[in-house]
Amino acid sequence: MTANIIEIDTLIVGAGQAGIAMSEHLSKLEIPHLILEKNRVAEAWRSGRWDSLVANGPAWHDRFPGMLFPDADQDSFVPKDKVADYFNEYVNHFNLPVKTGVEVLSVVKNDQTSGFTVTTSEGVYKIQHLVSATGPFQTPIIPAIVPTVEDLHQIHSAAYRNPESLPEGGIMVVGAGSSGVQIADELQRAGRDVYLSVGPHDRPPRSYRGRDFVWWLGVLGLWDAAATEPGKEHVTIAVSGAHGGKTIDFRELAAQGLNLVGRTASFEGHTVTFSNDLADNIRAGDENYLSLLSRADDYILANGLDLPEEPEAHNLLPDPDCMTHPTFTLDLKEAGINTIIWATGYATDYSWLKVDAFDENNQPKHHRGVSSEQGIYFLGLPWLSRRGSSFIWGVWHDAKYIADQINIQRQYQQYETTQEA
Ligand SMILES: Cc1cc2nc3c(=O)[nH]c(=O)nc-3n(C[C@H](O)[C@H](O)[C@H](O)COP(=O)(O)OP(=O)(O)OC[C@H]3O[C@@H](n4cnc5c(N)ncnc54)[C@H](O)[C@@H]3O)c2cc1C
Repeated sequence: MTANIIEIDTLIVGAGQAGIAMSEHLSKLEIPHLILEKNRVAEAWRSGRWDSLVANGPAWHDRFPGMLFPDADQDSFVPKDKVADYFNEYVNHFNLPVKTGVEVLSVVKNDQTSGFTVTTSEGVYKIQHLVSATGPFQTPIIPAIVPTVEDLHQIHSAAYRNPESLPEGGIMVVGAGSSGVQIADELQRAGRDVYLSVGPHDRPPRSYRGRDFVWWLGVLGLWDAAATEPGKEHVTIAVSGAHGGKTIDFRELAAQGLNLVGRTASFEGHTVTFSNDLADNIRAGDENYLSLLSRADDYILANGLDLPEEPEAHNLLPDPDCMTHPTFTLDLKEAGINTIIWATGYATDYSWLKVDAFDENNQPKHHRGVSSEQGIYFLGLPWLSRRGSSFIWGVWHDAKYIADQINIQRQYQQYETTQEA
């Protein structure tokens, strides 16, 4: 063995919530392991998001089972820096082995021997198992329709920080998932003229009959709903913990002064064309909202729960002007818009992981995170095993499953060793 090659059973790449959960479960099983993190613990929560972001779920829910959020009202929505602090404290509390500031540069399968060789910015590792916990939201995606005119300031939502950091003038936000809708709302409240391009989405009630929607999704088994057809599960979900937690209601946002338009279809110079789908998208979102209310009502009835009635939650505001007289084209210059924020999602980057665990579209080939390359595991991806997989509480359960799979493999390997001895 070369002196500067470190041997360890399992390497976890990334010390976000996924890597931390993985380490906790491997520690419980006494599996020797190490987390390598190129930045700091929970860096995405620390520096990868806008200033005012709070967790989308209340503190009692968006956490790991082993520790409460310290000094927090458990029904409150914790600010992003406190989420990062929580994970830091978690690492200390459970004494988890993390090396920060070390980037994993490449992972290759060993030739004619088990395991993998991992090259990092600080040396080489020989390992038997690797868990990629590098995050579901790594590389910002901006669709190929961006306008090429020079006098437009364009950023991805990942680069947005606060209203003051944008040039004076109107703003168009493309994408109305949780990021786009919160950013547009913040900008409009800051006095900016804002257009929000709204595609298909789900929009659960923030709370209903005294329970937050995370509770409803839990008791109705919807967080746990299993992945069905790969690639078909993703639905943009518009939720927010901002302002103490409010239901996202596009009718209300229109009344508040946000200019809502349909999906952004194309640009020609300064002129943008929108699909004729705004009313359909809002109505489908309303259906989704109302269906959760009725499932909640059924659950209350079936289980004889004593929760307060909330009939007013079923009332929707009338169709706003933007639904009855939709805008199909807009000259950005004439409308005074000089900034576009693309809240259009993220892709993953596995260029460092040079193993046979990807399909023809470069997507991980796996079942519940166990990949097609033996010894390689994925964690934290949307719908890895269920709806909750990319969220704080869900990743903890997926990590438990993967730790068990690694343990099972190790036990088989140890059996062979015993026979050979
Ligand atoms: C705006 C926004 C708000 C969200 N709000 C919530 C919420 O309220 N509640 C909730 O449950 N979920 C929320 N999520 C979803 C999810 O919880 C977060 O995205 C979370 O950060 C994912 O954790 P992760 O550990 O899987 O990945 P990340 O937090 O992205 O961690 C991956 C880590 O891997 C490191 N890394 C990557 N490549 C390498 C490499 N080659 N070598 C070494 N290290 C590497 C990165 O530096 C990073 O620290 C939100 C997501 C977004 C985008």
